[in-house]
Amino acid sequence: MTLHIEKQTIEQDVCTGFDCDRCGRQFDRENFIEWQERLDIQTTAGYGSIWGDGNQLELQLCQECAHDILGPYMRVNGRKLSEDRS
Ligand SMILES: [Zn+2]
Repeated sequence: MTLHIEKQTIEQDVCTGFDCDRCGRQFDRENFIEWQERLDIQTTAGYGSIWGDGNQLELQLCQECAHDILGPYMRVNGRKLSEDRS
């Protein structure tokens, strides 16, 4: 048996950036730091979820907005940020 191999170009969707769902700023993927540090949530709510069973949840936040919203609750290296301020 001989395989017949040829090169083909495959078209695919590629994410090239994101808009922060809080501040609305736009970030290109080429902005490596902001791209790498974004908070990207894509999940499906499960049975009994406050979001509704089976609903698709999506959220993209820039690192600054994620820090503003989640900072009081985030543990960094096992410590809450609020503990460092006291
Ligand atoms: Zn933002």
